[in-house]
Parts: sequence; C-alpha cells; structure tokens
Amino acid sequence: MSKHMPPAHPFDFDALSGDAGDDKLHEECGVFGVIGVTDAANFVALGLHALQHRGQEAGGIVSYDPGSGFNSARRFGYVRDNFTKQSLMETLPGALAIGHVRYSTAGSKGATQIRDVQPFFGEFSMGGAAIAHNGNITNADALRRELIERGSIFQSSSDSECIIHLMARSLQRKVPERIMDALRRVEGAFSVVSMTRTKLIGVRDPLGVRPLVIGRIGDDGWVLSSETCALDIIGAEYLRDVEPGEMVVIEHGELKSLRPFMPAKPRFCIFEHVYFSRPDSIIGGRSVYETRRQIGVELAREAPVEADLVCPVPDSGTPAAIGFAHESGIPYGMGIIRNQYMGRTFIEPTEQIRNMGVRLKLNVNRALIRGKRVILVDDSVVRGTTSRKIKEMILDAGAAEVHFRIASPPTAWPCFYGVDTPQREKLLAATMSEDEMRDHLAVDSLKFISLDGLYRAVGEATGRDASCPQYCDACFSGDYPVAPSDMIAKGFELKAAE
Ligand code: SF4
Repeated sequence: MSKHMPPAHPFDFDALSGDAGDDKLHEECGVFGVIGVTDAANFVALGLHALQHRGQEAGGIVSYDPGSGFNSARRFGYVRDNFTKQSLMETLPGALAIGHVRYSTAGSKGATQIRDVQPFFGEFSMGGAAIAHNGNITNADALRRELIERGSIFQSSSDSECIIHLMARSLQRKVPERIMDALRRVEGAFSVVSMTRTKLIGVRDPLGVRPLVIGRIGDDGWVLSSETCALDIIGAEYLRDVEPGEMVVIEHGELKSLRPFMPAKPRFCIFEHVYFSRPDSIIGGRSVYETRRQIGVELAREAPVEADLVCPVPDSGTPAAIGFAHESGIPYGMGIIRNQYMGRTFIEPTEQIRNMGVRLKLNVNRALIRGKRVILVDDSVVRGTTSRKIKEMILDAGAAEVHFRIASPPTAWPCFYGVDTPQREKLLAATMSEDEMRDHLAVDSLKFISLDGLYRAVGEATGRDASCPQYCDACFSGDYPVAPSDMIAKGFELKAAE
C-alpha cells in the first residue's frame, strides 16, 4: 500500500471521548417524506441531512415514479457523503419519496447490516408500500416470535420490520387500513412515515412519544418530518404536528386525518426538549432553544452558586448556560471550544491519539478560565466519563473551582422508546446519590435541575403532575408510560411502587 493511501478502516474519533461513544444518550432515528414535488428524493435527501443529528450510522430513501415503479437506495454513513451524488439520485425519480436516518436499533448494536437500514419495503397483493419508523417497539421480540411461527421470513434484525410483516398478514384491502391493523398490535413508541404509489402516510403512537410534524411546500407539496428544522432547509412551511394517535393520509393534494387508536393522554419525550431535537426546531409550538434557555433560568434559581464565569459544555449545553448566566447575573463565556470538524476520519488509531481522548473534540479557552470559579453547564450526565475529563481539562487550565450544573434530572433509568441508553447499572445516577456523583467527579459542587423545574421550563407552570405526568420522563423517574414487556420478560425490574 502506498504511504499516501488511507488505512483500510476509518478511525472513529467519536469513540474516543467515552468508554463507548461520547457519553451521551443518542436518538436512534429521523424520518422524512415528501409528496407532490418534482424529484422528491432530492428534497428528502436535504431533509435527512437536517435530521442527521438523530442518526449518523446509515440512511435510506425510497421513491415512486409511475414509469419505473418503486426505487430504493440504502447506504452507510452520512447523508451528505451518499445522497448528494447525481448518479445515485438519478436512480430515485418521482414526486413521492420517504427517507430514514439511523443510529442503530435495539438488538443490533454494533453489527448493523445494510439490510437493517430503512425504509423497509413490502410488495402486497394490492401494491407496494414502504415504511420508515422512528421509535422502538417494546413488544418486538414477542411479535417476531409469533410472526416467525406463522411463516414470516425476516430480512433484518430491526424491530421495525415487524410492522411490514403485520401489514402483510392483515386482511384489509387498503394500505392505510393495513398499517392501522399492524400498529394496533405494536406497543411502545412509533412515529411512522409510509408511502404507497399515490399516498404519503404519517402516524404517531397514541402517547405521541416521538415527534412528527406536517409541512407544506409549494402549491401542491406536503412534507412529513421528525423535526421542523428539516422543513426549513427545503423552504417548507410548518403547518402543525401530527397529533398523538393520529394517522394522516395525503393523496391528490388533500390531507385526511384518521384516529385509529383508543384515545390516551399524551406522553411526549421530555428529553427531546433537553437534548435530542435541534435548538432551531419547534416542538408542540415551543421553540426548543427557548425551552433550553428557560431550563438554565430554572437551574440558576434552584441551584445558585457564587462563581465568576458560566461556561457551556458545547454545543448542547449552550442555551441553558445562557439562561443560567442571565438569571444569575454571572458573566457568560465560551470557556470550552468544540472542534467542529472532528468526526470519522482516516487516520491510524495510535495509542498516543487514543490517550488524547476528549481533547480531540473539546479544547479549553485558557485565557478565559485561569484563576476563575467556573460553572460548567451540561445537558446530562450519563456514565460520567466525559464529565470527569472535562473537569480535569478545566482544572489543568488553572480554574480555581469547578461547579457542574446539569440541565436535566439524574438519568437513572434506560429508555426503551427509541433512544440508545446504557444498561441501568452503567448509568451513574442509578448507583450513586447526587453527593456521591459530586465526589466521584471530584468537583466543588454538582446540581441537577429537578423534575418539577424541568416541567416548568417546558411550560407546565405547576410542575409535574405526579398522578398523571404530562410527558414521558421515564429515564429520570422510572415511570414507564408503556410497560417494556420484552425487557420485563428478560428480567428487567420496574421501579417498586412508592
Ligand atoms: S425514557 Fe427518556 S429518552 Fe426515552 S422517551 Fe422517555 S423521556 Fe425520552
């Protein structure tokens, strides 16, 4: 091999800053669909690019064109590295397309195959249909066993493929009704975007755990997207959210709203407000940026501390740090700078580079930090590995004191609704009290926003309604709105009743 050739395997800098990944929870998917525009797949590629923060492992697009039928492309890696190539996009013609970006789904972590990459496609007696799913099916193991016993042949290890097989077994004559039949058997969280030859279909689970919004583009075009930031990139106008438990069927320029499920009290994922969604997105009519800034305000009220500087841990801690600084009157400063261009790259993984760890992604602004009592505002603490390293960097730079303020309550429970979480015993807050975590991280103080404070920040003036919470907050409270039946069958123990 020439010395100028890259090594055979790309080296993943993302894996350096924690024991496994960057010590953050990761959203597992983003979905996007467009109908009624020329070359819809190009719009889908742009939408998926804007949703890349929801999944970087792989992406896929299915389109339909009356001349060539259904076409699909699935690729590993970033959208910009694949779905910008003219030669590939020319294979995805038509005015109707859906797409998906994926982090990884339950049951296949670290071993994703191209066959696991969505959208999934099924050819049924009444025509073809493709689906893209964001969320996690909590009874997928049981459904898969049942379907296999009845003759279904699975192609992937994805929980989402159950939906296609359930659709295939439905006796309904039309695709929307088959989707309804299938999703009524599914437990857990789902925001689904689906397409037939003529229809774009969107569905949210009865609790509306994961987001899905509707947009308009041009005179005749309609868009479905996980987040509004992906509407902005294609110049689409945000119309409204698909409501929890709603199915929308868009055909011939018209949107039809259906209610296929028993009504339920919504339990949207509160962590979307804290971390997962992009700050320039609107959720339920609220600006994500403004909510995060308000979390910082609440945190400053709940956990004040004398200090000289408020610094965000970039990038997701930034709006909360701005709110904290504003409320406390302590100056705000960029004490940590993120290298925006770090990521997967071709470089030999030498021991020396491994030891650099988090320093490859983050650098301390020494001139600002030296001699100061610093408040570091971060969005969450998962294993605590990155928090420890950041604290060491700040002290190495000459800080007099380090105080952590965390914009979410302690993450003590795993998520089973479409977010990649370590096992419970690996979550720092599952085994330690707040004081023990402070000692473990060896910082001068550590405070998390309370659950009530978080609820106030998202607009619930009286905080969390303990008898009927307004959001899913299971990773903080252990209160799972849908029993994770597969995990319980595997021995997972729910929180004991208080
Ligand atoms: S458990 Fe946490 S991350 Fe998962 S859906 Fe609920 S609030 Fe969101």
